[in-house]
Amino acid sequence: MSTVDADVEIAGDDPVPVLDLEVTVARQARVGDITVRRMLPLRQRRSVGPWCFIDHYGPQDVDGTTGMLVPPHPHIGLQTVTWLVAGNVLHRDSLGSEQMIRPGQLNLMTAGAGIAHAEESPEQPDPVLHGVQLWVALPEASRRVAPAFEHHAELPDAAVPGFQTTVFMGELAGSQSPATAFSPIVGAELSAAGGAATSSVPLRPDYEHVVFVVTGRADVDGAVLAPGQLLYLPTGRQRASMSAPAGSSLMLLGGEPLGEPLLMWWNFVARTPEEIEAATASWREGGFGEVGGYEGEPMPAPDLDVARLRRPRS
Ligand code: MN
Repeated sequence: MSTVDADVEIAGDDPVPVLDLEVTVARQARVGDITVRRMLPLRQRRSVGPWCFIDHYGPQDVDGTTGMLVPPHPHIGLQTVTWLVAGNVLHRDSLGSEQMIRPGQLNLMTAGAGIAHAEESPEQPDPVLHGVQLWVALPEASRRVAPAFEHHAELPDAAVPGFQTTVFMGELAGSQSPATAFSPIVGAELSAAGGAATSSVPLRPDYEHVVFVVTGRADVDGAVLAPGQLLYLPTGRQRASMSAPAGSSLMLLGGEPLGEPLLMWWNFVARTPEEIEAATASWREGGFGEVGGYEGEPMPAPDLDVARLRRPRS
């Protein structure tokens, strides 16, 4: 997925203090015909570990609609992490990859120096679409790596009492995802099919984390969460308590704080306005290559106001 905003807008609300926990509320955004809950970046927090973008969309009935339709667009400096709770989405990119994704599977695209991709509902989509689109910022040493695409249909379960836990990025409770990562990271979905409560979700104290609900609701360390609310857990924690009624599911994302200021504009994660300017010019000149098999026009880059990018962000 892509942001179609001229800028990667930040989520809307100031944090609501809940027992000294920071809970922020998503901003609504549109990506094509899909309404998304945008939870990251935040005004006060551009990234959590290396995670720098969180969209949660659906569940949405896409029967008889175009569903997801994101034309070819470019990325640099990040990985896109696509995770579905329901439905199916077809990915195509400028490396020639073509991959349908379904719930419980991971599509991981490393943009690195640059890649273009398109994502769309297939011609005969599953009737309900529900998922998350996440970006991982690449650290300085790796942000210009060669672009790559991975699909992982088999991902490990982690032992978290009561929850069926799938680790799609990094490591949790001794279970390691096979997906390529460039900095210390965790990404997992925890599903409480029959209702669950545990006080021992293991966290790494050198990581910061966020937790959000994708289905149902949950109580995490005393914060009651519904979809669209993002709980931030700072470094220094050894574990979290989680309880959730039957049928609920949560996402846990975290990692070592990146410690690098990010400059995000449109679909680019960079450090300087010059890099953004160069990537935008390259996209307009066809420098990212063609997304084969996609019928229709690529996404035009929005107008770039370099002076605005140069202003320090508060
Ligand atoms: Mn994208």
